[in-house]
Amino acid sequence: MNKRYVIGICITVLVLGINQIFIQYWLKQKKTDANTINVAGKQRMLSQRITNEFCAIDRGAKSDEFLIELLDQWKNAHQLLISRSTKSTVVSGDIKVTSELKKLDKYIRFIEEETKLLGESKLNLETITQNQNSFLSEMDAIVKILEKNSDKKLRFIVQIEYLLFFLALLILILEVYFIYRPIEKEMKASSLILEEKNEKLNHAFEKIKVKNKELNEITYIASHDLQEPLRTVSSMVDMLSTRYKESFDEQGKMMLGFIESATSRMRNLVKDLLEYSVLGQNRELSEVDCNEILNDVKQDLDHTISQNNTIITWGNLPVLTAYKSELRLLFQNLISNAIKFQHPGNQPKIEITSESSGEYWKFKVSDNGIGIKEKYKEKIFSIFKRIHSKEEYEGTGIGLSHCKKIVDMHDGKLWVESEEGEGSDFYFTIRKEIVKFNL
Ligand code: ADP
Repeated sequence: MNKRYVIGICITVLVLGINQIFIQYWLKQKKTDANTINVAGKQRMLSQRITNEFCAIDRGAKSDEFLIELLDQWKNAHQLLISRSTKSTVVSGDIKVTSELKKLDKYIRFIEEETKLLGESKLNLETITQNQNSFLSEMDAIVKILEKNSDKKLRFIVQIEYLLFFLALLILILEVYFIYRPIEKEMKASSLILEEKNEKLNHAFEKIKVKNKELNEITYIASHDLQEPLRTVSSMVDMLSTRYKESFDEQGKMMLGFIESATSRMRNLVKDLLEYSVLGQNRELSEVDCNEILNDVKQDLDHTISQNNTIITWGNLPVLTAYKSELRLLFQNLISNAIKFQHPGNQPKIEITSESSGEYWKFKVSDNGIGIKEKYKEKIFSIFKRIHSKEEYEGTGIGLSHCKKIVDMHDGKLWVESEEGEGSDFYFTIRKEIVKFNL
């Protein structure tokens, strides 16, 4: 991901985070305020209950135990109010609340004194009631201040919230302007460059296509047209051989033999080249059962197989979409090579396996033949490249080139893993969904 996107996202998250922390903090403050007002309300109630208690004690209807408990509650609540008002965060009005609350100490002290005197002298109910009433009215005034403070806080929060909202909006606009817009522009520019490159690539591809076609045509024409003079040479050599061979001396006969074998070899090469140039020209994609193909190949190679006592085995191979005749030729070439390139007298054993590998089917054709030296592993796939002499193993060196061309048609790869004398494993892959682009 673009680095600047990350920065933009981080800034947005930061602004939202600060906003959230602020809201949480002020919500907590509001809760404390509500609690404080609650405690102040409770104070009012306590002061009234204390008056009632004094009246009841005076009438002899109650003992002083409950009064002492109420007094403790009253004192505690008073301390709580003072400590809350000193800790409060919104400055305006809170200092006033603290000093006002401190002024109420005298009422509490008075009741404390009165409680201590309980039972010693007659209760002065009138002054007690007056004390409590004064407390009540001063407490009322304090509650009002507290409520006012709380409202002030709320207004402050709303204002800050607006400010934060506009700040976030501003940051967002700045982000869009300085981060996202330039990225967008760059992306547009790079997509234009990409389009341009794509166009060039398409152009180059078209050129290659034309060149390839030309090359194929040249190969085809050359090999096709060469056949005619070659046929003439062959028949002339034949005629020369039948009519005049006997009149030749030993050296002449030997030379004639060379010409005969060279022409026959040339005939084979030209034939192979012609086949190579037309390979896959009329190809058709279809559902292909590889097991069926191998049965067919086995039948076609029946003579060679039984002559060499060859054992061919394969597992359950897939049904895939491929160019059927070409795939069959591929298996046929690999299998006939596996039978051919064996030490004399060795019984060829060939195993064909396959596995699914991502977008491809991967096949392996293993044999127990002569194997291939490391340095030849690439070369053998080039056209007319052979490692062995014609006398050792016959052939023209086109089989694996055919295989390579066929595997290319299937968007796959062909390679070999082998050690000299240890047999060879020929691998090839076939794309499950072949992209048709005809070169
Ligand atoms: P050809 O079979 O006509 O020689 P190929 O193109 O089929 O031509 O093979 C090229 C070369 O690769 C062969 O000459 C041989 O040396 C080597 N080769 C091919 N298949 C095998 C195999 N199964 N084991 C050992 N060598 C092989």
